[in-house]
Order: sequence, then structure tokens, then C-alpha cells
Amino acid sequence: MRIVLLGAPGSGKGTQAQRLIDKYRVPQVSTGDLLRAAVAAGSELGLRAKATMDAGKLVDDATMLGIIRERLAAPDAARGFILDGFPRTIVQADGLGALLTDIGQPLEAVVLMDVDTEQLFRRLTGRRTCRSCGRVFNVYTAPPSVPPPCAGQCTTPELFQRPDDSEATIGKRLEVYGAQTRPLIEYYRTRGLLRTVAAEGDIDVVTARLEAALRA
Ligand code: AMP
Repeated sequence: MRIVLLGAPGSGKGTQAQRLIDKYRVPQVSTGDLLRAAVAAGSELGLRAKATMDAGKLVDDATMLGIIRERLAAPDAARGFILDGFPRTIVQADGLGALLTDIGQPLEAVVLMDVDTEQLFRRLTGRRTCRSCGRVFNVYTAPPSVPPPCAGQCTTPELFQRPDDSEATIGKRLEVYGAQTRPLIEYYRTRGLLRTVAAEGDIDVVTARLEAALRA
């Protein structure tokens, strides 16, 4: 399986990718997670990217294409991948296309996770992450008591809010999505790769819709 999950911040790309990786046995490649790991490690990339991320803007295309090229060369990506948060611009989509053609692994589908803006805002302001295991909760829709904290792995989850999930930054991120990433919907539609999933409502129901879209 070689797919892109496309959608605004808060559309559930990460949550759904997590559910697909076990079934399809391919890695989730989240550029947001890769960048956050670089920030946490204090690497040169992390130091460079942090201010851009905190401002809700996009890290430059050349850097992102370098990260993806390296990640897709890792052995676990040989059987496929679920891209989450990449590509986010036309330049990145062109670069990805060229890279995948080079390695003979073209995309099979691009799934648009469709959610209206009001819902996105609510999801993003409510999002909390467990510092120990990285599991993501939502204070409105998936609070940490249901199911039990971190599936029982962390007895006392320490939840934190991503710095870029502050109300001030969310507006900027949604604006950046509209201007720079939304054009990819047409880009992939014209290439015959786009499938759209209604990504509102119950998480299990969305997973079922997503799997149906992938089978189609
Ligand atoms: P995410 O977790 O996907 O919402 O990404 C968090 C932040 O990381 C974004 O707001 C950007 O600053 C940066 N980022 C992640 N993926 C990309 C990408 N493909 N291109 C540019 N910046 C990115």
C-alpha cells in the first residue's frame, strides 16, 4: 500500500493512519512527527524548524523533500507507506511524484479526509497528547478516561497540548492549509488518484469508510 492521507490539520489523518498500519503492515510516515522528534532531539533541523512550526507556517519544501527522501529509503518503507501530512504544497507533490517514479513505487491513492472548518477548530483546541506514550486524546470527543488512559500502558498519563494547537496558531494553520495545501485536491483529482472520505463522526465509522475507500 502506497497512499497519502490528505486533509486539514485536525481532520484525523494521524489517528486513522495509526489504525491502518497494523492492518496493512506499512509504516505511517508523519512529517509533523518527524519534525517534532527533531525538535525534541535538539538537532540542527529541529532548531531550524521550531519557530516555523510554532508560528503555524510550513517548513520549506527543499527541507521537507530531503526528509521524505531519507525516510522512504528506510527498509520498513520498502513494502509501502501511509504518508500523513506530506505533501502539503504543489512543489512537494511534484517532488514526491518524481521521487516515487525514480524508485518505481508510484502512489496508489490519495485519500481526502473531509471535515468542516468548525469541527476542525474544535478538534484542534481539544487535542491533548500523552507525554509518555504519545497517544492522542481529545477533551471533547475522546477524553482520557474513555478508553482507560493510554490503553492501560501509562497509569498516570501526563497530557500536554501541542504548542501549535493554541487558538492563535490554529487559525494560521487552517489559513495555510487553504492557501497552500487545498490545491492538492484538484492536483490529485486530475491525476485520477483522489478518493474522498467523510471524516466526521465516530472514529470507528470513519475507519470503516476509509477502508472501504481503499478497497474501491
Ligand atoms: P502536523 O503534525 O502534520 O500538523 O505538522 C505540524 C507542523 O509541522 C506544521 O504546521 C508545519 O509547520 C510542519 N510540517 C509538517 N509537515 C510539513 C510539510 N509537509 N511541509 C511543511 N511543513 C510541514
